[in-house]
Amino acid sequence: MSSNIYDMVLLRLGSEITIKGKNRARFEKVLADQVRRALRPFSDAVVKRTYGRLYVELNGHPYEDIANALRDVFGLVSFSPVKRADVDLESIQETALAVFQANKQRKDTFKVTVKRGWKQFPHDSLEMNHLVASHVLRATPELKVDIRNPQVDLRVDIQQGGAYIYCDVEKGAGGFPYGENGKGLLLLSGGIDSPVAGWLGMRKGLKLEAVHFHSYPFTSEQAKEKVITLAKRLLHYTDGKFKLHLVPFTDIQTSFAQSGQERLIITLMRRAMLRITEKIAVRESATAIVTGDSLGQVASQTLGSMNVIGKVASLPILRPLVMMDKVDIIQLSERIGTYETSILPYEDCCTLFVPKSPATNPNLEIVEATEAGIDNLEAMIEEAVKNTVTVVLRPEEAAKPARESEEDRWF
Ligand code: ATP
Ligand code: MG
Repeated sequence: MSSNIYDMVLLRLGSEITIKGKNRARFEKVLADQVRRALRPFSDAVVKRTYGRLYVELNGHPYEDIANALRDVFGLVSFSPVKRADVDLESIQETALAVFQANKQRKDTFKVTVKRGWKQFPHDSLEMNHLVASHVLRATPELKVDIRNPQVDLRVDIQQGGAYIYCDVEKGAGGFPYGENGKGLLLLSGGIDSPVAGWLGMRKGLKLEAVHFHSYPFTSEQAKEKVITLAKRLLHYTDGKFKLHLVPFTDIQTSFAQSGQERLIITLMRRAMLRITEKIAVRESATAIVTGDSLGQVASQTLGSMNVIGKVASLPILRPLVMMDKVDIIQLSERIGTYETSILPYEDCCTLFVPKSPATNPNLEIVEATEAGIDNLEAMIEEAVKNTVTVVLRPEEAAKPARESEEDRWF
């Protein structure tokens, strides 16, 4: 059965516990804005609030297309395609049957849950449960009613202006609306992990900017393009703007390579990256650093290394992948659309000077002494910040925004 039978999509936000009172109104407003942004390509879709709920009116757009766009909106816990019926018994019964038949789940058992928001409707909700269920059963005799654990819960919400009927519930991306939990800087390499870490941070409501270190001309133009492509993909999940800071790292890296502490090069590089990132964070008013570290994945991601590396930063370092396995990270990277780019073979600045046996448990004193022995390190760090090039990424085609309706004035 076609999924084009639907008129609207019902949107569900986070749980009542996380978003109460005043926060909820704000959360809903930000979420509605994000949904509008995600639905820009669908010029007739309208986001509105009716009877205290957030809906998208499809106005002829296929539900599946809208659903695909909604799956990327953070803060949306789940959503359901809805068909509207006139507020009379026959229309409700027929529409309920159509919605039941269009639903994608298995259909051996079901129940009907009617809510009568408009009390003047002549049948109360208990009566309506029976009247709707018996109509569905007449058309589908092998079907059984199961009140406790039905495969399908057919819901009917009766309001004065219409009855809203749905049963499919699709999972949304969850989390918080983009930007609702502060701002961080993402250390973005060209690999698989850091874009996924960025996406997880964004999903938790962090507004992000990316910082990438390159060692041009040792690293190629393609390596830079690769990072820009990854950042453009992450742009898709933002509020329409994503900054990428490209930091020249060649001089610093070269001086570490000459320090005589080959096994500590990665530790030294990571610490310098954090120092530079903190300075950019101050400039950009960001208050966290996000990395793609995953415990034990490589030498620089052992607990010992993370300790010595992290000591240099005063901002919290958020590591969304720290407890995740690589297979799960890869799966996420495929889902968010960064995997294909991440596996392109261009070298990263860190792969250039990789020692044969990097320290897995570096000694903080030796690391600090090595840094102190490089006399112009602080100046090189300042220089790198000064010569950082910032690219502001925006969507290429500014499509027409989804229309706002009269009902939107409630914001
Ligand atoms: P990724 O897949 O993200 O490259 P990785 O497993 O290769 O991660 P490392 O190279 O050890 O891990 O890097 C650990 C983290 O340090 C990265 O996830 C990223 O956050 C940061 N990082 C590494 N190289 C760079 C770089 N050139 N620019 C910015 N951040 C970097
Ligand atoms: Mg890497």
